[in-house]
Amino acid sequence: MRAEEQNGKNLGDPLPWRNFTLFVVLLIVIFGTGLVFGTFNEAGKRMSLDELNRARSYFKQIVLTRKWNASFGGVYVLKAHGVQSNPWLKKPDELLADGRTVTLRNPAFMTRELSELAESEGLFKFRIMSLNPLNPGNAPDDFERAELEAFDRGEKKESYVLVRDGNRRVFRYIAPLVTELSCLACHADQGYEEGDIRGGISVDFEVGGVWRSLYTERMTYLAFALSALASIVLSVLMLIRSLRRRLDTMNDRMRTMAITDELTGAFNRRRFMERISEESARSGRSLSSFSVGIFDLDFFKAVNDVHGHIAGDAVLKEVAARMQGSLREPDLVARYGGEEFAILLSGADASSALRVAGRIRETIAAAPVIWNGVPIRVAVSGGIAVVSAASGGDRKAAALAALQAADRALYRAKNEGRNRVILAGEKEAHS
Ligand code: GH3
Ligand code: MG
Ligand code: MG
Repeated sequence: MRAEEQNGKNLGDPLPWRNFTLFVVLLIVIFGTGLVFGTFNEAGKRMSLDELNRARSYFKQIVLTRKWNASFGGVYVLKAHGVQSNPWLKKPDELLADGRTVTLRNPAFMTRELSELAESEGLFKFRIMSLNPLNPGNAPDDFERAELEAFDRGEKKESYVLVRDGNRRVFRYIAPLVTELSCLACHADQGYEEGDIRGGISVDFEVGGVWRSLYTERMTYLAFALSALASIVLSVLMLIRSLRRRLDTMNDRMRTMAITDELTGAFNRRRFMERISEESARSGRSLSSFSVGIFDLDFFKAVNDVHGHIAGDAVLKEVAARMQGSLREPDLVARYGGEEFAILLSGADASSALRVAGRIRETIAAAPVIWNGVPIRVAVSGGIAVVSAASGGDRKAAALAALQAADRALYRAKNEGRNRVILAGEKEAHS
């Protein structure tokens, strides 16, 4: 049986497989990407929240320290060498009885000094600012101004932003400074009342380090996710490929089974009738003739009777093989019935059909089939008919009519003494 005929039409059309594969891969990529970016986003949010909480706690500490200072109406420190007096106070210095001088640290001045200290320690930077500052150095920058105005309008209670400054990333936090009772001792003459927003305190600190480590973490995660994604896609592709191969193999096997005669391994009647249709169409297009033939084993009942059914089966197999061996590539032999075989000779006219059929008859009659060491003589009779190029019209109907004519010619070959081939329509065309 020829390979392309065994495979026949493959049921595994490649297009649905390609679409299915694309769909599955796309699904994995979409989910994978979503997962990666979802995780990235979560990590970013978590980091911003950590920084926000850090800024809030700095802010609270500053406010608390200021409150402590204000609760004493300011705190005096010894005016040692390098200690500045607060230039914004009318009379900051006091001479003690022992000759030493102390100078007043009010909350504003203390805040500035603490800020300078924190900054010099590389911790963070904070400052107090107001829309209406006594000290012009406490005027807000653009970000602070916009937020202070929003606080004044009562729109926000705090605000933060992540600023990129070259390679640096700075987290900026600002919250309002609310006038408390202790503030009024010094600030009442500015017209403030308890609960008024006097300005704000902003806290800035560098977050480059944490963002860099987040970046490294993200890149590691990305590399891991990409390799996991690639492995999943690869495994799915391999699985699909293997499933497809298995299905193709199963389809091929089913197709082969559907067109093969189990006993002899030759094609069966179904495949023969398919080939008749194909050949009818082909010869219709090329305007060429083709031939069909039916062979029947002579006195086969006797083979069964003398040697048994198993021997009969072996003879059928051997006859099928010999017929197959007598044919050219495009021709076909099929088991047509019990001990009957049909042949299709592509493109054959009467003379070449007679020649091929004669060769089949000869090879079967020439040597006995040896079964279990026992020689069994067999012969076949055959009838052949040509579907001529000139027949025109319905080629398939012409082919079926030729098959019937070949059957009648076979009947005649039997009547005329068997072990012969007769060409339908030509009484004396024997082989
Ligand atoms: P003729 O020359 O007139 O064809 O004589 P014949 O004996 O071959 O004809 P008949 O139709 O009387 O017998 C056909 C026999 O083929 C009968 C049946 O048992 C046998 N046969 C059909 N199919 C098989 C098969 O698959 N295996 C075996 N062993 N025998 C089969
Ligand atoms: Mg017979
Ligand atoms: Mg028969």
